[in-house]
Amino acid sequence: MQIYKDFHFEAAHRLPNVPKGHKCARLHGHSFQLRITVAGDAPPPMNWIMDFGDLKKVVNPIIDQLDHYYLNDIPGLENPTSERLCEWLWEKLSPSLPQLYSIELKETCTSGCLYTGPNAAD
Ligand SMILES: [Zn+2]
Repeated sequence: MQIYKDFHFEAAHRLPNVPKGHKCARLHGHSFQLRITVAGDAPPPMNWIMDFGDLKKVVNPIIDQLDHYYLNDIPGLENPTSERLCEWLWEKLSPSLPQLYSIELKETCTSGCLYTGPNAAD
């Protein structure tokens, strides 16, 4: 069983390693949509995997490190692709969120990354 909570943040970035002339080399911003999914059993008497409020308490301080920042300035995000952002978020969240199952990050309405952790096949 899985539960998820959606978050969002605004941030600017540019991708320094794309070919010359690529639009993502220019400074621009996104309204990132983030979905954090945790998995586990939901045994009685609570019948839940975890408290949504506790999930929010873990994720919000990490979001605060990204919201309204220039992502390239953040250690580990020198090349802030959605893929790298998902890995960075996983590194930050997994120590205090052992039930973490997946991180889904959308940078536009139609483009996003789904990451299921460093040990997953995909
Ligand atoms: Zn971008």
